[in-house]
Amino acid sequence: MSNVLVLVDHTGGKVRKTTAELLTIARRLGDPIAVYIGDGVQDALPALGQYGATKVIALTSPELTQYLVAPKAEALQQVAAKVEPSTILISSSAEGKEIAARLAVKLDSGLITDAVDVQAGPVTTQSVFAGNYSVQAKVTHGTPIITVKPNAATPEAAQTSPEVEEFDVSISDTAKTAKIVESKPREATGRPELTEAAIIVSGGRGTGGDFGPVEAFADSLGAAVGASRAAVDSGWYPHAYQVGQTGKTVSPQLYVAAGISGAIQHRAGMQTSKTIVAINKDEEAPIFELVDFGVVGDLHKVLPAATEEVTKRKS
Ligand SMILES: Cc1cc2nc3c(=O)[nH]c(=O)nc-3n(C[C@H](O)[C@H](O)[C@H](O)COP(=O)(O)OP(=O)(O)OC[C@H]3O[C@@H](n4cnc5c(N)ncnc54)[C@H](O)[C@@H]3O)c2cc1C
Repeated sequence: MSNVLVLVDHTGGKVRKTTAELLTIARRLGDPIAVYIGDGVQDALPALGQYGATKVIALTSPELTQYLVAPKAEALQQVAAKVEPSTILISSSAEGKEIAARLAVKLDSGLITDAVDVQAGPVTTQSVFAGNYSVQAKVTHGTPIITVKPNAATPEAAQTSPEVEEFDVSISDTAKTAKIVESKPREATGRPELTEAAIIVSGGRGTGGDFGPVEAFADSLGAAVGASRAAVDSGWYPHAYQVGQTGKTVSPQLYVAAGISGAIQHRAGMQTSKTIVAINKDEEAPIFELVDFGVVGDLHKVLPAATEEVTKRKS
């Protein structure tokens, strides 16, 4: 079997769900080898083994975390030279895509970004033109480097006991040009990350500025909260939660749009969601054209009733 490199996404050893998804995809293509950058690899091992990593390559050189992306791309180039992978999978975050682009140049390889699916080949699927087209593509030169969007696969467990191999990398001075002087995590909301969440409940202008029912329903489902641009521009919800063309692109298992009309720019960010539910008091609202389930009604009545029912069924 060929080796497939997976760059691990983690926060201090806590492996993110995107990595479980990448490992699941990697198993369709060959033997997944996880590349872990930074401290805490021992904490990450159980999660990496749970999703089938056959080996973990640990890169602990301090420059890798002291500088912005360039050293990470150099390090991956050196790992690739040793492992000779058939494919390299990286998460489609802003950082992931920059690492992937730099790596593609270094390896003289083809790069595909924002895949929503990857099958044997590897053949990728991308959703383009505001989700109106689905494109299948294949890298034809070098080692395929593919960045994969969150929720592109459902993580499937495959218990392994990966060994850890420490790998020394040498980072050039030209890669050490942008030093991180400070970093602090965003204040936790207790809800899942918007781009990784399996369920999202979004509110729009129809909330009238009261996101209470949206948040309560989201919490009953363990979901993230999103917002339309109209709601964000009105100052009702922070910009970091905007879904759409000029906000985040999301693809959860379930997307609930409450008081959102369904403008093309909003759809662009959410129409690849697996199941879409809308609550809108206007039965002619365009959002109803793309939903799996639609509720015509006032969200201030529908959401609290739904929240109560979910809470009742959970207890
Ligand atoms: C270049 C560009 C980029 C853009 N990028 C984005 C983007 O990233 N994301 C985005 O969302 N938009 C974006 N927009 C804006 C987009 O065109 C729409 O204006 C916006 O999505 C509308 O938000 P909305 O659906 O919340 O509001 P509206 O279009 O005003 O719709 C509100 C809906 O709520 C319903 N409603 C009202 N009261 C209730 C109630 N009590 N209960 C239930 N339903 C109710 C109404 O029937 C209506 O359908 C962009 C626009 C441009 C030009």
